[in-house]
Amino acid sequence: MKYVSTRGGGLQKRFCDILLEGLADDGGLYLPTHYPQVDAATLARWRTLSYAELAFEILSLYIDDIPAEDLRRLTAQTYRAEVFGGRPEITPLHTLEPGLHLQELSNGPTLAFKDMAMQLLGALFEYELGRRGEALNILGATSGDTGSAAEYAMRGRAGVRVFMLSPHGRMSAFQQAQMFSLQDANIHNLAVRGVFDDCQDIVKAVSNDLAFKKSRRIGTVNSINWARLLAQVVYYFAGYFQATKDAPGLRSASPPPEGATPAWGGPAPAANDLPRVSFTVPSGNFGNVCAGHVARQMGLPIAQLVVATNENDVLDEFFRTGRYAPRGAAQTHATSSPSMDISKASNFERFIADLFGRDGARVHSAFTSPSFELSAAEKAEVEGRYAFASGRSSHADRLTTIRTCQQRYGRLIDPHTADGLKVALERRQAGVPMIVLETALPAKFAETLREATGQEPPRLAGLEGIEALPKRVTVIDNDVQAVRTFIDAHVDPR
Ligand SMILES: *Cc1c(COP(=O)(O)O)cnc(C)c1O
Repeated sequence: MKYVSTRGGGLQKRFCDILLEGLADDGGLYLPTHYPQVDAATLARWRTLSYAELAFEILSLYIDDIPAEDLRRLTAQTYRAEVFGGRPEITPLHTLEPGLHLQELSNGPTLAFKDMAMQLLGALFEYELGRRGEALNILGATSGDTGSAAEYAMRGRAGVRVFMLSPHGRMSAFQQAQMFSLQDANIHNLAVRGVFDDCQDIVKAVSNDLAFKKSRRIGTVNSINWARLLAQVVYYFAGYFQATKDAPGLRSASPPPEGATPAWGGPAPAANDLPRVSFTVPSGNFGNVCAGHVARQMGLPIAQLVVATNENDVLDEFFRTGRYAPRGAAQTHATSSPSMDISKASNFERFIADLFGRDGARVHSAFTSPSFELSAAEKAEVEGRYAFASGRSSHADRLTTIRTCQQRYGRLIDPHTADGLKVALERRQAGVPMIVLETALPAKFAETLREATGQEPPRLAGLEGIEALPKRVTVIDNDVQAVRTFIDAHVDPR
C-alpha cells in the first residue's frame, strides 16, 4: 500500500515513512491510494476474531512495511483487556433499548476514545524508532484529552520523549492530576502562563523553525496522523459485528476456516443482503467519523454516518448547506463539551479529497480559500453515495439528554456522548440499529454532570485520590525561547 497527499503533490510513500511525519510537504494530508475492499466472506470470518486479531487483519491491509508477525505482536500487546477497563471486547456495546446502542470507546487509561488510537501509536513509534536506531521528541499543546492520551501512550517508551504544553491553571483538577501525576522520566509537562492558543502558538513557532525541528528531532502526535485514523477504523467493524450478531441469516453461518477463499461454504451473500447499521459520532476535528468513512469505503455495511456537533457547528453547517466556512479562534465558543470546540476540522480534507475524486489541485484550492461550496450534485453525493447526515446540540440539549438518558436507561453519559445521543435520536431510521460512539466517561466532566443530574459522577476504582498525588510539572513563561531552552536541556541526544 502506498500513501499520497490529498493535494496531489510529492511522492508516494509507505506506511512507516508517514508514521513519523505530520502533514505532507505540499500541506496536504496522507491518504492510501485506494481502500482495500472487504467482502461478505471476509466479514463473516472477521466476526469471530478478538479485537486485537481484528485490528491486525485491518492494519495489515494498509501496512506492508512491518513484518506480519511483528504487527500481530504489536496489536496483541496494545489491545489487552487490562489496558481497557478489564473488558475483553475492548469496545463493548451497551444496549440502551433494542436498536439503540452506545459503543464504549473510553475504557482506556485516560477515559476518552483517543486512547484507542494513541495506545497503538505509542507501540508503533517505539517499534519503528527502535528499528531505525532513532529518537523522537514529541511536542504538543493540549487543553485536556489529547495531551493526556499521548502521555499515557508514550510513557516509558524507548526512544520517545514528550513535551506537552498546557495552559497553567486552566485545566480541570482531574485533568491536571491525570497528566501531572505521571512520574516517567520521558514525560515533560510544561504549564505555560497563558491560554491554550498561546500554547499552540509556541508549538507552531518551534515547529516552523525547521533547523531546530530537524536537529532536535521534533515530531507531533496530532489527529491528522494516518496511523491514528487507521486504528480507529477497527472499532467501526467491532461495533457492527456486535450490533448485528443476532441479525437473521447470520446466526447459522459458522466461520470459514483460516485463509478460506470467498467461495467457502457456497457463494458469499451479496453485500446488499447484509444487515446494515448506522453510527452517530460526536465530532470536532472529524478524525473519529473520518475513520467511519474509511470503514464504509472498505465495504462495511453502514447505512448512515451521522456527524454530531456542539455549538461549534461548522460541520453541521457544511452537511446542511454544502458550504464549508471554518471560523477563527474568536468565533469559537467555549462549551460544556470542550473536546469538540474547534473552528476548523483538521481531518475534513481527507473526506473532501475522496468527494472530489482525489483531484489534488481542487482540494488545494478549497483548503487554501477562506471557504468553499459544493455543487448541488456533490451535495447529493455527500448524502447519497457517502451517506452522511448531521445535527447539532447545545448546552441545554446536553443537560436534558444526560438527565433523560439516566432516567430512561439508567446510564450516565458524558457531555460529548450526550451531543451524539441527542442527534442520533433525531436521525434514527426504522429497522436500522443506531450505534452512538461513547467518546469519554462522565467522571472526566464532573461539573456538567452535577449541573445535569445534581449528583457527582462516580469515580472509577483506582482514580479516587488522583488529585492528591505528587505532581511533576514545570511552570514556564509564555515565551518561545523559554520552551526551546527547556527542550534543549531535556531532549534525547541521539
Ligand atoms: C477528541 C474528542 C472528540 C472529537 O473527536 P474528533 O476526532 O476530533 O472529531 C469528541 N469527544 C471527545 C471526548 C474527545 O476527546
